[in-house]
Order: sequence, then structure tokens, then C-alpha cells
Amino acid sequence: MSFEPLIELRGVSKSYPGVQHLSILREANLSVACGESVAIVGPSGSGKTTILNLLGTLDLPDSGQLTFNGQDLTKLSARELAKFRNSQIGFVFQQHHLLPQCSVWENVLLPSLAYQAQSPSKTEERAHQLLRRVGLSERVDHLPSQLSGGERQRAALVRALIQKPSLLLADEPTGALDRASASEVGRLLVELNKEEGITLITVTHSNELAALMGRIVTLSDGKLIATP
Ligand code: ADP
Ligand code: MG
Repeated sequence: MSFEPLIELRGVSKSYPGVQHLSILREANLSVACGESVAIVGPSGSGKTTILNLLGTLDLPDSGQLTFNGQDLTKLSARELAKFRNSQIGFVFQQHHLLPQCSVWENVLLPSLAYQAQSPSKTEERAHQLLRRVGLSERVDHLPSQLSGGERQRAALVRALIQKPSLLLADEPTGALDRASASEVGRLLVELNKEEGITLITVTHSNELAALMGRIVTLSDGKLIATP
């Protein structure tokens, strides 16, 4: 593992204007090195999804800096950001968000339709390898409705990894699963973090999942605090 930060938030603030102005992040700082696994924990409503959306460039900070490999992401155009997200970041959410009318195979290849990170044959090879890795080789032709909750989330994980991103962002990835499937998905996340050398940031209120990560930070009063 190198100690160069892959992604860094510096003095980032984010609020949601409205009748009740909500100041969610207040000059928050976070630096995550290449290959690290980090859990962000905090109570419901503390801003965990907000911070993950900022890290994934799905939303922009009001102020402060967001850098990736030293590059200030807040300076990129919408088009540049879309390509950046597609090629560098994998997302896993609490809900699988698989397309119901598409098979597992079609779903996991979807990101490669928008932007080809590698040749189609290499992408298909990777899809087979990842589906085997998560135990879905026998489910490639299934529709999401024909899968268990854990299997759907494992398919979503393959889709997140298909483009060989450098950063995997997971928002409550085990939140909708039963206990056994949750620990299976948690274990896969950290194993793939190591095997693929992919940096992992997961937001969760599950102590079990957080404990699997290399480091835990707590979101409190709009700031991220290292958990000893
Ligand atoms: P968490 O994921 O920790 O539960 P969120 O980041 O989703 O928290 O939300 C933090 C707070 O900001 C919540 O009080 C929520 O209601 C509010 N919030 C989230 N997104 C928006 C939005 N787009 N507009 C207004 N308020 C929002
Ligand atoms: Mg949330």
C-alpha cells in the first residue's frame, strides 16, 4: 500500500438550503490512500450519503477541495466528470439498482456500454472472472427477480468493478440484506479490496461491516473524526 492519497477532501462544506437551512458538512477533511479500506460511520441523518456523493462527484461541495491523485475534481466539466466517474469509480448502494428487464450478464456489462475502459473481449473475460469470484457463474442468464437479495448485491458488486475502477464507494451495501448475506457481501468487499488493489470507502451504520475495514472514521457535527 502506498501512502500517496488517492482521494482527499480538504475543508469541505456542504449545506442544503431551504426553509430549514441544513449545514451538513463543516470544513470536513478526509484523506484516503491507494489500496486502503475505510468505513465512515455515524447516525442516520449525519451526512454519510452526502459525503459519499461528494467523493463520487455525484454532487459538488459548496466550498473546499476534492482531489483525486492530486487533481482538483471541482474544476472538471460535467462531461469530464461523467467519464471520470465511469472509469475510476465503482458504486454500490443499499439497493442493488439492477435493471429488472436485463439479465445478470447484461447488467454487469452496462457500464462498459457508456465508455470502453478495455476491449470488449477483455471486458467479457473480466465479467466471467468476477462473476465466478462472487459465486454467480451459474446465474448469468437470470433476471434480478430470479436472484436472492445477496445474489443481487453480488451482481451489483461485479457491475461496480467491471471497468477496473481505482475507487469503490459503497453506501450501506449490506443494509438491505439478512445477516448471512450481509456478512458474505462484507467479506467479498474487503477481499476484493485486497485482491484488486482497489481503494474502498464504505458508509455504514453496521458495526460488523465497519470492523472489517482497515480504518474507521466517524462523521460527527459535520466533521470526520478518526476512530481509535
Ligand atoms: P445519512 O446518509 O447519514 O443518513 P444524508 O447524507 O442522507 O444522511 O442526509 C443528511 C441530512 O441532509 C439529512 O437530514 C437529510 O434530510 C438532509 N438532506 C439530504 N439530502 C438532501 C437534499 N438533496 N436536500 C435537502 N436536504 C437533504
Ligand atoms: Mg444514507
